Amino acid sequence: MRKILIVGGGYAGFYTAWKLERKLRRDEADLTIVDPRPYMTYQPFLPEVVAGSIEARHAAVSMRRHLRRTHVVAGSVTAIDHEHRVVTVEPNTGDDFELSYDLIVVTAGAVTRKFPVPGIAEQAIGLKHVEEA
Ligand SMILES: Cc1cc2nc3c(=O)[nH]c(=O)nc-3n(C[C@H](O)[C@H](O)[C@H](O)COP(=O)(O)OP(=O)(O)OC[C@H]3O[C@@H](n4cnc5c(N)ncnc54)[C@H](O)[C@@H]3O)c2cc1C
Repeated sequence: MRKILIVGGGYAGFYTAWKLERKLRRDEADLTIVDPRPYMTYQPFLPEVVAGSIEARHAAVSMRRHLRRTHVVAGSVTAIDHEHRVVTVEPNTGDDFELSYDLIVVTAGAVTRKFPVPGIAEQAIGLKHVEEA
């Protein structure tokens, strides 16, 4: 059975797993998603959280609840060895380990840019995560 590994369970990664669960039979592929957070953040809702219009939990979609047959791994991928088709995972707790794959989907998103504006890195708060909102 082919192993499909998704790096990052944000908008792109979550929907990739969700759709593949519907398109592929159980014996067709083994799905795994790796993300340090157990939920997909619906970022367009974050300004609403800041404004107090909705609660923070409404911007988060639980991966374990909605991805019924995808293995959810809590951690960060720190290296991809495409030649050997293996990634290194730094789990939220415990020692690093490796995961092999046949197909990899890299959807680790982006980080907030801090532009060379004096003080912005120290004073400003990003708006990509629920915690920041
Ligand atoms: C405030 C705000 C409002 C927005 N409003 C809109 C809108 O109205 N309409 C619109 O179309 N778009 C909007 N966007 C843009 C949209 O949210 C993004 O384009 C979309 O979230 C990008 O999806 P992504 O999967 O590429 O990245 P993300 O959703 O950021 O997901 C990346 C995921 O990868 C994980 N990750 C990162 N590094 C690693 C690693 N090393 N190993 C494992 N996992 C990792 C992260 O934890 C995260 O869960 C908005 C964005 C923001 C911030």
